[in-house]
Amino acid sequence: MNIILIGAPGSGKGTQSRLLIDKYNFVQLSTGDVLRAAIANKTDVGFSAKSYMDQGKLVPDEVMIALVEDYILGQKGKSVIFDGFPRTVAQAKSLDLMLEKNAAQIDKVIYFKINPQILVKRLTGRRTCSQCGEIYHVETKPSSKGHICEKCGGSLVHRADDREEVIGERLAQFEKNTGPTIEFYRGLKRLVEVDSMSEPDVVFKEIEKVLALANKG
Ligand SMILES: [Zn+2]
Repeated sequence: MNIILIGAPGSGKGTQSRLLIDKYNFVQLSTGDVLRAAIANKTDVGFSAKSYMDQGKLVPDEVMIALVEDYILGQKGKSVIFDGFPRTVAQAKSLDLMLEKNAAQIDKVIYFKINPQILVKRLTGRRTCSQCGEIYHVETKPSSKGHICEKCGGSLVHRADDREEVIGERLAQFEKNTGPTIEFYRGLKRLVEVDSMSEPDVVFKEIEKVLALANKG
């Protein structure tokens, strides 16, 4: 089973992805990880991607698609969670073609719906471990060790893009870029919406229901 998680920054997508990986046999494709790996391995596509990133430009569709295709070939037969990809309709269509070659498909696209006001509260209080990526919140999930990660001892940071002035801009960007992709999957009847402003365990149960139904179908 392959699924895509789509959600604005702060929609809780990352938390749910971790929960899914812990409980089920998913591997995760995150575009950030794939980019870093390609650059570290000095592949041709990695070089190409790096040249765009060094100029502060978005990595173009064809480069991103080539990177993802490499990754998928290495994960044949496994269940993949796609996070951060596809970002455009062109990427979505290419992904379908790549999976078809492996006799696979995207089974469900889970869209994390948000309420902007709640999201601002959530993000401005968010603290991220600089070492392991564990996520805390000053009100709802503080670390028992203050500014230190409970799991790995790394220091917790307030990411620059979690600051209020930046959030509005990020949300607008998200809608503009990802809106058409969401509509694309809605048209294919693969989109499922979850209310990501609920508690994480409630959201997780909702996602499990979706996956159980997809398995039956
Ligand atoms: Zn940590």
